[in-house]
Amino acid sequence: MSRHLRIASVDVDTRHWIGGRRIASSDTFELLSPIDQQPLGEICAASAGEVDEAVRAARNAFPEWAALGPTGRRPILERLATRIRHHTQDLAIVETHDNGSLLIGNEKNIVARSAHNIAFFAELASQIDGGVIAGDTVDNHVRYEPAGVAALITPWNAPLMLSTWKVGPALAAGNTVVLKPPEWAPLTCSMLADLASEAGLPPGVLNVVQGTGGEAGAFLAEHPDIDRISFTGSPETARRIGRAAAASLTPVSFELGGKSPFIVFADADADAAARTIAHQYINAGQVCLAGTRVLVERSIAEPLLRKVQVATAKLPVGDPRSRATRIGPLIHSRQLARVHGYVERALANGARPLFGGRPHAFAELYYEPTLLVDVAPDDEIFQEEVFGPVLTWNVFDDEEEALSLANATRYGLAAMVYTSDQAKAGRMAAAIVAGTVWVNCFFVRDLAAPFGGARISGIGREGGRWSFDFFCDVKNVVMQRESFGSP
Ligand code: NAD
Repeated sequence: MSRHLRIASVDVDTRHWIGGRRIASSDTFELLSPIDQQPLGEICAASAGEVDEAVRAARNAFPEWAALGPTGRRPILERLATRIRHHTQDLAIVETHDNGSLLIGNEKNIVARSAHNIAFFAELASQIDGGVIAGDTVDNHVRYEPAGVAALITPWNAPLMLSTWKVGPALAAGNTVVLKPPEWAPLTCSMLADLASEAGLPPGVLNVVQGTGGEAGAFLAEHPDIDRISFTGSPETARRIGRAAAASLTPVSFELGGKSPFIVFADADADAAARTIAHQYINAGQVCLAGTRVLVERSIAEPLLRKVQVATAKLPVGDPRSRATRIGPLIHSRQLARVHGYVERALANGARPLFGGRPHAFAELYYEPTLLVDVAPDDEIFQEEVFGPVLTWNVFDDEEEALSLANATRYGLAAMVYTSDQAKAGRMAAAIVAGTVWVNCFFVRDLAAPFGGARISGIGREGGRWSFDFFCDVKNVVMQRESFGSP
């Protein structure tokens, strides 16, 4: 097997990165590009032995990395952020070939955000301090200690961004890491390992094991010498990881799927709402935060629908490498089958497409932006995450009904509320069950703010100090004040 594959003149190593060395496996899997479904190459698939080797490398590297302290780690991590920025073009084009995401989005947002994920937490780590709680005779010195070895498992829709969102705080807090990238889009995480090495990250601090979820992922989740598991992906996989982690009582952080409501009141800016609803189709709807259940106040339903149709029709469908494209392919034929299966079952159940409803003629993995009406709250299409360009459209008569529809699924990742009435926005935001509520906006993310999901959309929060709450053990050192005399 070749040790590299080449994409648009970028060489990407297809092996694991363990203890500062490239290591090949005898097992491999074939990687296909969603752009043309052609093979990109063979990627190494880790055995239990290789996963174990990576965990041991991380364990061995831990004491020295932890001992550097936040200020010792910060310049190394800042160099990594700089390396990522310098390689924006390479990372962006490789990500596009690997998962079909828009090149323009990768160039303008995703790579920059990935670099920021590293630099932001490197800086914040030195400010994390539990402080001192004074008692009558003692002082409680609260310390944030690195937890140890963190296993990070990430999905394919934004692998570099979602992996660095975990790698950044885990390393900044003083942990060492074993990262298992998604098997449908593993390449930018392999490039991240090279960039970390160039930045001077000591061997073993960041390890990358490639492979499938059922094998490499499962071996990692059940490894007994892991101190934290941070996972982003589907609730089904989270249940498996949770069961594996239970054996060693390893703490888990889960960022999972969504079925977010997009609520538009009659007093909203309808043009802005329509544009943002159409935006939910970008990246072929493979976005966990997408507002896939549109809920509209009856009096504006018809004019808003016309605006949404116009705004959606303006989104160019095409090759994700073209900077004009806004809707590219689904990642895999299995994802296409999943999306179409949901739509076919919804149609058989009485739903009606206002537009879309079938594979797109542009190329094999494309799906038409789809909007379905005549959907009841207990229908599968209203309840389950499709992870494709498929929205439902329901009408409500008042705030109470809007809220009841918004909260009518088991998910709770995000919600969008469009209204010009601030008091109403406040009432809705308080009553909606979701980790994030965006009012008159969408996808605005501040790394200092908490991010995560309620109900089956997740366990725990990432972002700002919440990432450190997870990646650290909080220790209370109780000092008898008088035993040291007065200062
Ligand atoms: P997935 O759950 O199938 O896979 C995610 C990762 O888990 C992959 O690396 C996979 O190899 C690994 N995995 C699979 N089985 C495993 C096992 N038994 N043990 C350990 N690891 C295993 O999810 P996906 O299809 O890659 O991604 C789509 C899902 O991710 C959607 O539900 C989406 O909403 C969710 N997602 C959530 C967020 C968020 O921040 N909340 C962000 C992006 C995607």
